[in-house]
Amino acid sequence: MIYLDNASTTRLDKSVLDQMLPYLTEEYGNPSAIYKLAKTTHKAVEEARAKVAKILNCEPAEIYFTASGSESDNTAIKGIARRYQNKGKHIITSKIEHPAVLETCKALEREGFEVTYISVDENGILNLKELEKSVREDTVLISVMFANNEIGTLQPVKEIGEIAKKHGVYFHTDAVQAVGSELIDVKALGIDALSLSAHKFHGPKGVGALYVKQGVRFERFVDGGHQEKGRRAGTENVAGIVGLAAAMELAYKELEEKNKRVRALRDYYEAEVEKRIPYIKRNGDKQKRLAGTSNISFEFIEGEGLLLNLDIKGICASSGSACTSGSLDPSHVLLAIGLKHEIAHGSLRISIGKYNTKEEIDFLVESLVEIVNKLREMSPLYERVTGGN
Ligand SMILES: *Cc1c(COP(=O)(O)O)cnc(C)c1O
Repeated sequence: MIYLDNASTTRLDKSVLDQMLPYLTEEYGNPSAIYKLAKTTHKAVEEARAKVAKILNCEPAEIYFTASGSESDNTAIKGIARRYQNKGKHIITSKIEHPAVLETCKALEREGFEVTYISVDENGILNLKELEKSVREDTVLISVMFANNEIGTLQPVKEIGEIAKKHGVYFHTDAVQAVGSELIDVKALGIDALSLSAHKFHGPKGVGALYVKQGVRFERFVDGGHQEKGRRAGTENVAGIVGLAAAMELAYKELEEKNKRVRALRDYYEAEVEKRIPYIKRNGDKQKRLAGTSNISFEFIEGEGLLLNLDIKGICASSGSACTSGSLDPSHVLLAIGLKHEIAHGSLRISIGKYNTKEEIDFLVESLVEIVNKLREMSPLYERVTGGN
């Protein structure tokens, strides 16, 4: 099996699991209790909070643990929007956000909020002029992702932070793809709220975190007990939280070396595909993107067919976002960068991770050459365009 879908989720690192295990067995105390058994788990959660804060350059008190990246996005956007609705009910986001942000904005629209969706250029980079022009008197929040999950593009986060600050608007970023792959200093970048999720950087599934700058208020997302400073009720997922922090620490220790390695593999893959397969288009800014992500459209091909054939060869990849595959709509991200429907349909995202090897990439390229040829031979349109060559 060759796993090339690390943007979707990643394999739990064995050393992370080892650090989690005690909290799934003998260290089972409820962190809120007062006896010794609980002191250990309470301390573990607070140590994890401090580790996460240190990496993002913020205070431990500014970190809230959640159950996913999606929950962090929901908490930040709904929480801030509802808390400040007396000031204004306008939110700005981008057209290429993850569904966790887009659907949250749709939900707020149903509550009477107004949302402006900013466009991106053909490389998938946010239009800053359009962003600044769309800020209004009643704008309370800008939410733009740090790195896109389908094409990997890195957004001009620092510039967005500056625009937000200049206009007195809060800035949230969905950094779920970026954490573990990019250095992030929330202070230097002017970020007021940031979402992250452990399973995207070799941590466990079902645990995320949300950074919210001190002084920025937000309505609590889960009512109940007083956990997470009264912002999110529910007994802490201690093992998950320990795993999140351990995985994050490890990811930043390995960051430079990993990025160098996966970038070389990604660039090699794209060069080979460009050399060996005609009628393709590489998507997303070539420089400003995550090291391991590649998105290529193969003309005259259906992405689903490509994925099924790759699966037969034991290769896991994606045709855009996992959340939209299975539906017939082409990816909203690929449409936003200006691809025609039929070209967007034939797109393949691979996301390379720390466990991938050059041999695996070679096998992927060989398989793609074979599969693309086979599928194109069955396409009447391809025959017409190429004259049957
Ligand atoms: C995966 C992902 C999410 C959702 O995170 P979960 O932990 O799976 O809920 C949100 N935003 C982006 C950009 C993602 O890649």
